[in-house]
Amino acid sequence: MNSRAENFYSLWRENSRAVGALRDENSVPPEKLLQAVWQHQRLRRGELKTADGKSVRVLHPGFISAEGGPDFRGAVLQFENEKPVSGDVEIDLQANGWHAHGHDVNPNFKTVILHVVWEHGQSPKSKAQSSFPVLALKNVLDATLTELALTLENESGLPENLRGKCSAPLQTLDETQLAELLHAAAKVRFQNKATAMLARAKHSGWEQALWENLFRALGYKHNVWPMLNLAEARPRWTRGADSAFAIQARLLGVSGLLPHELTRSQKSSDTFLRHAWDLWWRDRDEFSDCTLPCTTWKFHGLRPANHPQRRLALASHWLAAGNLAAKIEGWVLKNHSSPLIPALSPPRGEGEKLLSSLHEIFQVERDEFWSWHWTFNSERMTKPQPLLGEARVTDLAVNVVLPWLWIRAKEGGNEKILREVERRFFTWPAAEDNSVLKLARQRLLGTSSARILKGAAAQQGLMQIVRDFCEHSNAICDDCRFPDLVQTWKAPEK
Ligand code: SF4
Repeated sequence: MNSRAENFYSLWRENSRAVGALRDENSVPPEKLLQAVWQHQRLRRGELKTADGKSVRVLHPGFISAEGGPDFRGAVLQFENEKPVSGDVEIDLQANGWHAHGHDVNPNFKTVILHVVWEHGQSPKSKAQSSFPVLALKNVLDATLTELALTLENESGLPENLRGKCSAPLQTLDETQLAELLHAAAKVRFQNKATAMLARAKHSGWEQALWENLFRALGYKHNVWPMLNLAEARPRWTRGADSAFAIQARLLGVSGLLPHELTRSQKSSDTFLRHAWDLWWRDRDEFSDCTLPCTTWKFHGLRPANHPQRRLALASHWLAAGNLAAKIEGWVLKNHSSPLIPALSPPRGEGEKLLSSLHEIFQVERDEFWSWHWTFNSERMTKPQPLLGEARVTDLAVNVVLPWLWIRAKEGGNEKILREVERRFFTWPAAEDNSVLKLARQRLLGTSSARILKGAAAQQGLMQIVRDFCEHSNAICDDCRFPDLVQTWKAPEK
C-alpha cells in the first residue's frame, strides 16, 4: 500500500488545510486540536507530570462536554500513588487562560481537578495560575503536531477504547433484544413519572397535577423550578383573569418576567407592555407573596423560541380555553382500534399520526403578539411562527400526557385505556436528540448514529440506564453491574 505522502488523497487533504502552519516547532495548536489530543490521549502517557512535579495517570480522560463549563466531564485521574479522583478537566492554551477566561470566578468550574495547557507561561507566577494541578502537553505528545492534526481533525466521536464496559455485551444483542431491553427500562421510567403524578394528584387533584407537570415540561431543563413554582400557585393567579391576555399579564407579573422598562425601539412590544402593566398595576400587591424574583430564571444558552415569556404566553392560551384536560382525555379515547400489544418496532406512520393529533390539541391558533415576535426586543416577523413545535409536543407526550393518562387509567381500573396509553408510548416517534443521548449512544451502544434508537421509548430507556447505572459509577465503569446483567440476561438465548 502507498505511504500517505504517495497517496494523492492524502496530498489533497494536506494541501487543503492549514497544517503547514503547524510545521514550525514553535507552533501553537488550535485549542480544538489540543482537546482532541486529550480525548484520544495521544500522549506519552507514562511521562505526564504536573507543573509542581507530580506524576499523573489518566485512568479516563473524561467525556467532552457540549454544554459549556469545563471541556471534559468525569475524568478519572491518579496523582502520584494517591487514591484515584474523579472530576472535570479544562483545556486552555496557556495557564493564564484560567483567569483570562474567567474560570476562576465561574461556579461551573469548581469541579475541575486538572488544568491541561499547551505550555506553562514564562514566569514562575504563571505556573500557579490555578489552585489545582496544571499539566502542559507540549513536550509529551506521541507524534508531531502535523501528524496529530491530520489524524485527529475529524475524529469527533468517542474513541473505541473509551466505550463503557457494557458496550461489548450490548453489541451482541440483536435488534429485537436491544429494543426489548430499552423498552423494559423505558417502562420503569414511565411508571416512575406516573407514580410521582399520582402522589401529587392525591394532594392537589388530577387536573392540578397535570398543570404542574405541563409547566415543568415548559421549563425544559433550565427553568423547571420557577415554572413549577408558578404552577403550584395556579388556582390563585387564574382567579378572575378572564382572557388569555389577562392571564398572560398576570403570569408575566407573578413570574417576575414582565419588563419594567419599555423597549423604546419596538412599537408593538411597547403597546403590549403598556397593556400588560395596566392590568398588573392593579394585581401586584395582591400577588406580592407569590411573585418570583427574576433571578430565579436562567436565560443563558436559551433559544428565543424557548424563552419562558413565550412559554407562559402559550400556557395562558391553554388556561383561557379551560378545556385542556378534557381534550386530552378525549384524545386517548379516539382511534384506539390498533392492536393492544405494544409493538417493539412501531408501524411507520402510526407514531407521526399520534404526534400530529396531540399537536392539534396543544397548538394555539394565533397570539396577537407572540405569533409575530420571538422576544420583546425582537422585530416583528414577516410570517407568524407557531408557539409550539412538534419536538416539544413529543416532550409533553412522553413526560406528561401519557404518564398522566396511564396512572389515571390504572387508578380507575380501566385496563383498555391502560393498554392503549402503553401502545401510544411505545409507538411514539423519537424526540429531539440531546447531549445525554449522544454520549450514551457512543458509550453504551458504540455508535453516534441516532437511528439506532427507534422511537421515544427507546430513547427514554437509554436515559434510564444512564441514570440507574452510569450515574452511580464513573467514567471507567467501576463497580457497574450492568454489563454482567446484560450478559446473564442474554445467556439463556445461546
Ligand atoms: S457505567 Fe455501566 S452502564 Fe454506564 S457505560 Fe459503564 S458499564 Fe455501561
